Parts: sequence; structure tokens; C-alpha cells
Amino acid sequence: MSDSDGKKPLGLRGSRPGQVKQSFSHGRTKNVVVETKRKRVVVPKPGAAGAAGKATARPVPGGDPAKRPAGIPDAVMERRLKALRAAKAQEAEDLRRRQEEEEKRERDRQRRREEAAAKEREEIERQEKARRKAEEAESKRRAEEERARKGAAPASAPASPAPAPAPRGGGKPSAAPRRQEREQRRDNKGKGAARGGGGRRSGKLTLNQALSGGEGGRQRSLAAMKRKQERARQKALGGGEAREKVVREVQVPETIVVQELANRMAERVADVVKALMQNGMMVTQNQSIDADTAELIIEEFGHKIVRVSDADVEDVIHTEEDKPEDLKPRPPVITVMGHVDHGKTSLLDAIRKTNVTSGEAGGITQHIGAYQVTTEDGTVLTFLDTPGHAAFTSMRARGAQVTDIVVLVVAADDAVMPQTIEAINHAKAADVPMIVAINKIDRPGADPDKVRTDLLQHEVIVEKMSGDVLDVEVSAINGTGLDQLLEAIVLQAELLDLKANPDRAAQGAVIEAQLDVGRGPVATVLVQNGTLHLGDIFVVGEQWGRARALVNDKGERVKEAGPSVPVEVLGLHGTPEAGDVLNVVDTEAQAREIADYRHQAAKDKRAAAGAATTLEQLMAKAREDKNVAELPIVVKADVQGSAEAIAQAMEKIGNDEVRVRVLHSGVGAITESDIGLAEASGAPVIGFNVRANATARKVANQKGVEIRYYSVIYDLVDDVKAAASGLLSAEVRENFIGYAEIKDVFKVSNVGKVAGCLVTEGVARRSAGVRLLRDDVVIHEGTLKTLKRFKDEVAEVQSGQECGMAFENYDDIRKGDIIEIFEREEVERKLE
Ligand code: GDP
Repeated sequence: MSDSDGKKPLGLRGSRPGQVKQSFSHGRTKNVVVETKRKRVVVPKPGAAGAAGKATARPVPGGDPAKRPAGIPDAVMERRLKALRAAKAQEAEDLRRRQEEEEKRERDRQRRREEAAAKEREEIERQEKARRKAEEAESKRRAEEERARKGAAPASAPASPAPAPAPRGGGKPSAAPRRQEREQRRDNKGKGAARGGGGRRSGKLTLNQALSGGEGGRQRSLAAMKRKQERARQKALGGGEAREKVVREVQVPETIVVQELANRMAERVADVVKALMQNGMMVTQNQSIDADTAELIIEEFGHKIVRVSDADVEDVIHTEEDKPEDLKPRPPVITVMGHVDHGKTSLLDAIRKTNVTSGEAGGITQHIGAYQVTTEDGTVLTFLDTPGHAAFTSMRARGAQVTDIVVLVVAADDAVMPQTIEAINHAKAADVPMIVAINKIDRPGADPDKVRTDLLQHEVIVEKMSGDVLDVEVSAINGTGLDQLLEAIVLQAELLDLKANPDRAAQGAVIEAQLDVGRGPVATVLVQNGTLHLGDIFVVGEQWGRARALVNDKGERVKEAGPSVPVEVLGLHGTPEAGDVLNVVDTEAQAREIADYRHQAAKDKRAAAGAATTLEQLMAKAREDKNVAELPIVVKADVQGSAEAIAQAMEKIGNDEVRVRVLHSGVGAITESDIGLAEASGAPVIGFNVRANATARKVANQKGVEIRYYSVIYDLVDDVKAAASGLLSAEVRENFIGYAEIKDVFKVSNVGKVAGCLVTEGVARRSAGVRLLRDDVVIHEGTLKTLKRFKDEVAEVQSGQECGMAFENYDDIRKGDIIEIFEREEVERKLE
């Protein structure tokens, strides 16, 4: 409009300009001049003869008398000219009609095309169109106004058909321009912005134009295309999934990790988690769910659940009973137990040595955790070379009852000690016969009969006391009575009538296992039934392997190992644990499957147990009887026997107000994981003859976990009992003030052994109490005789400094030992 106000717009001659308002996205609009070219038509109008006559006369050459051919009279000429004019007028009229028809057809075609295009885009932009329509109506109105104004201004558009004078003429031909204008209007209305792209109609309708036109339209259309493509892709994917949906049989053990469940169903983990959440289970993909919950989810996904138990997966392990005729005698397996320092190791060494010297002169056998000896009468005996209760109990805990006979060592110059009692209890619990070896009878103070009477108190009645427990007096040092001991063992073994079937797939128990730098995981296995052959595929605990090499107790490579034969097995894929049971299976796949299954099961069990202990059980108990306070404890001891004894003693303690619950009991130094467990449950950690390692100490300090050390079970029991009974009187409490490491040991006349130490933590104080630790186990407790720094006696030595220390009345000190320095103070009892 503005462009047509001031100056004449550029335009085609003989065209009709029209204003079209285009609208784009974000409310932008643009006015576009639309011109439609029209053929200039000469209309000879009878009613407008003057004008027409003037116009038509000129082009007719015949009309000029100057150019008239000679000899033709005026009348004839007039007739001819008339006829010619009529013919020309007729011709012009025909041409105009044809053109009109042509234009009409073209408009019709255009309308049809537009209608088709409009239909297409109708779905996509119905709203848009409505808005545009309104806008276009507006622009039409304005165009109308414009035209009206132009029409009013004379000679403003000479090429224009000048609709205004036409009605005045009222003649027939004037209908054509009006119709044309109507058509034009309709055109503009229908085409709208599609035609307003600036270019002339090309007859081609692009997608962009169809969708809405303009740059805004292009952007929208691209995004729409992308969305459409994405939808199509997802539809295709979804459709594919639906088509390929396979109903799976999903194996589910008692508990299963969500991720594993998703894997087994071949479903997306996120979907499984979502499904669980919809069922009110807020779990992550790494958490375990029980089989019932899993079943719910599996059904929801349209799969089938197959519940499996250990037995199903481990079915391949042959467990059938041996027929009596297949059974052959096997050597007995003997474990030596007894109190510390009563001579277990010495006795085992002595027995081994007698055999070795009689066999391969001077040959030192390799230590593989067990060895075999042959008695004079040719009977083979298998000794487990791991004295103490740890091996015995850990094996029993894992279901591998390896030991046939327990040799209980009691020093004749000592008496029945706590660990002697523990050993007796273990043997009794395992229902294993005992033979009492009264050791150190060479000692001057030896009193074997005292040992015998002591044992009576613990319901061990030896033969000499008219009981049925064999007893032999021995000396591990000078070899006295060793033969009698072996004889007694043979006798006992005969009574037991031990048999096994060597002609079946081997089954055994791991006595020891370690990761060897050169050889990989190595396990010493005691074959219990069947025969283990080189190349056998086996599963052992959570591990599996193929027997790549078998090494016997003499370090020789062997091809097979029968019942009661200890053998080192190479070719494992991981290190099993002592007490793990080994089973030979047929295929590697079976072995792997069982191992994986056990691994997962153990993991699940640990996870489940952890959760139950910390939350459910505690809460349930607390709810059960609100008045009962529970004291959870974590126990670590130097030997398994002590740990178990403590655990048992603790569980027994309890009154109406306090109960003690052992969360965990184990052997060895207190570690970070013990602290973690204690912290989680608000429990103190009890160290029995063991200490926390450096990291554990640090973590315990940080997290405020109480570590209490004891070296006498009764002290511990008394303490806990007192706490349980509410007798919270003042107690003597120890504070560790420092640690020192022995770097060297010197012998100083008049003083004895002096330890050259480096104070590694805290301070060393002359007045303080000291303990000697070897591998985090307490060896000695006492006081310092001397604390020296550069020849001078000092009261205190700070961390990072070197000093000399000597113990009062004790000098079994070694390089590498740790000295623990502590002070005692009286504090309120505080165990809860
Ligand atoms: P373990 O802790 O039960 O294994 O006991 P050991 O075998 O380490 O023995 C402890 C101490 O007792 C060592 O110093 C041995 O030399 C000593 N010992 C063991 N048996 C005898 C014995 O029959 N006679 C004597 N005199 N000393 C022995």
C-alpha cells in the first residue's frame, strides 16, 4: 500500500495488481503485490461507437481514402469497409471469447490443484489456515479499498481494465472483467500465501509451500519432519519388538539381582525397574529381589518363570551312594589339635620326619597342608598339616568333614587349657573320635596322670582311667612314644572301618589355597571319594578348573590321586577357600555354570544377610520386646576356636534387659571391613589377642567405633556380663598412646635383649604398659624395663623418633614385631 501510495509500483503492463498479506510464524506479516496478467482485449462496442470507431478506424488501412485503390466507388468502398469492420469485430470477439475460455479453464485447473493442496495441508494446519483466512479477508478488504481508490484516480492505471466505467456501459462484454475479478479474488483467497512467495505461479507446489510457506514454515516443517521420522522409527521399532516378542523361560533362584532378571528376560533394565516401582518396590538395578517378586515381574512381561534351586543347577554332580562292593579301605585323615605351645607343630614335624628318614633319606617334604606317612606295618595315614582349630572348624563350617581322627595334644608339664577344651568341644561336635597325646613327657615337671584326671572334668575318659579314649605318652622332641601314637591311630582307624570308592568321579575338600605368583591359583585338595585324574574338569566352591597338574606331598607330579590322598591341584580359574568342596563334572560348561551359580548365590546371600541384620532383624527384635536392649558385637580372635568360644559365650549372656548378639566372628587382625560392619550396627569390635591393622584403627577413630582388646575370654565374658546386668561400675580402660616398630634387636649385657625401635604412631612412654604384637597377634604383655634415646634414659619418645626399648622379664623379641604402648585409666563402664 505504501508503495502504491507515493509512486507507481513496478508492474507488468496489462496486469491487475492486488495486495496479499502473507503471515508467517511468530506473527510476522508481509504485504505482497500480486499481479495477474490479462490480455488486452479490444471490444468493439456498438453502444460506444465513437470510441470504438475511433479506435477501430485507425488500424483499418482501407478506411483511408488516400490509400484507397483506384476505381472503386465510395459506396462500394463503404460497404466493403463495413463488411471488413464487421469481420474484424467478429474475429476480435471470437478471440476474446477463446481467451476468456482459456483463462477460465486455467483458473479451474488452478483451483482444482489448490483444492487438492489445501486438502493436504488442511490436516496439518487447520488452525493456521483459519487464522490466515481471517487475515486474508482483511487483506482482501484492503486490496479492494486500494483498487477502489485507484479506480477513482483517473489514468492512474491506463493498462487496467477500469472496472468502473464498464457497468456504465451495461453491455454484455463488461461481464467478463467482473467475472475475472471475482475469479481473481477467489484465487487470491484460495491461494493466499502460497502464491505470495514473491514469484509468479509456476504451477508447481512445493512441500514447504503446501505446509505453510515462508521461512517460518520451513523451520516448522523441518522439525515436523524430524518428529515424523522419529515417530515412524519408533513405530517401526515398536512394531518389530511386538512381532519378535519371544516368551522366555526365565530361570530364577531364591533371589535374583534386578539387572540379571532383566538380562534373563531379555528386557530393558529400566523397564524392569519401572515395573517394580509400579508394584511398589523401590529398587535399583543392582539390588536383589526374591523369587516371588521376580515371578510377578516375569508374568507382567509375559514370560514364564522357572524356579531353580541349588539342586537343579548342581544336579550334574553325581551324588548317588556307592554300592558296598565298590567300596575299598582308605587311609584315615588325622588332625592335631590342642592348646598353643603344647607341641602340635613339633609333633606333626616329628611324625613326618620319622617317615621321611625311613623313606627318602634326609629328603625334606614340601609343605602342601597335608602329608601322608606309612607306618611300619604298611598302613598309610594322612595328616592335615594345619594344626589348630581354624582349619578344622572352617572346613566343618563349609560342610567338608575331612577329619576322621583328632589327636588332642596336651603338654604333660601343663594342664588342660582353654584351647584344649575348645578342641574337645570341636571334636565332640563333629563326632570325631579322639586320641590323647600327652606330650613333653621328657620334661622334668611332666605329670601325665594330672592331664588324665584333668580331662575327666571335660568328659574325656582315657583308657588308663577305664574309658575308651586312647591315650599315648609322647615326646615330640626326642621321639618317645611316636610309634605307639601311630599304632593307636591305626587301631582307631580300623575301628572306624573307613572306606571309599576309588572308581568314580572325584570329590574332595580344599585344605589350603593360595594364589601362586608363578603357577596361578593353587589348591591343596584332599580327595575324599573317587579318584582325581589329570585333565579332570571340576568345580570347587565358587571356582572351577581343569586339573592341569597334580603335585603330591613330596613335590612329585602325579597322574591321579585316590581317596585320602592330599594333592596340589593346578589349573584353577580362581582361588577357592579352605573347606570348599571339589567335585569333578563332565563338561566345562557344567563346571562354569555351577561355579557362576554358586558365586551369585553367595553374593545374594551375603547381600540378603547384610540387609536383614542391619534393618529387618534389628527392627523386628526391637518391636518384639521393646524393653530388651540388644548389644551387637563383632568378634575377631587369633584362632577360630577362640572366636567361636567367644561367640557362644556371648550369645549365652543376657538377661531381661540386655542381650548380646554376635554379628560376626572371625580370625585374624581387625580390618576395615570389620569396622564397617560394626559402624553400621553401632557395635563395638572385640579383639581377642588380635589388633586392628593401621587402616582399621584410623577408620575406627574417624567413625567412632569402639575397639576393645582382650586376651582372656573370662575377662571379656565378665565385662559383657557386668554390662548386661547393669553393673556399670568403673572399669580400668586402656588407651593406646603409641606404636613402635622393632627395627633391630641387640644384646646388651646386664640388660638382656634391647629392641631398636622407631615410634611410628603417638608416643612411647616409660611408665606405660606395653604389648608385643607379631602379625597383629598379641605375643606378650608387660611393662618396659628401659626406654632409651641415644644412651639416655628418657620418659617419653615422640612419633618419628628412634629409641631403645627393653621389656621387663621378657626377651623373645624379633625384628618386625610391633610394640603397642598403652595407658590405663578408670572410666565408667560403657559397653552398650
Ligand atoms: P604348638 O603351638 O602347639 O604348635 O606348639 P609347638 O610345636 O610350637 O611347641 C611349642 C614349644 O614346645 C616349642 O618350643 C617346642 O620346642 C616345645 N616342645 C614341643 N614338644 C615338646 C616335647 O615333647 N618336649 C619338649 N621338651 N619340648 C617340646
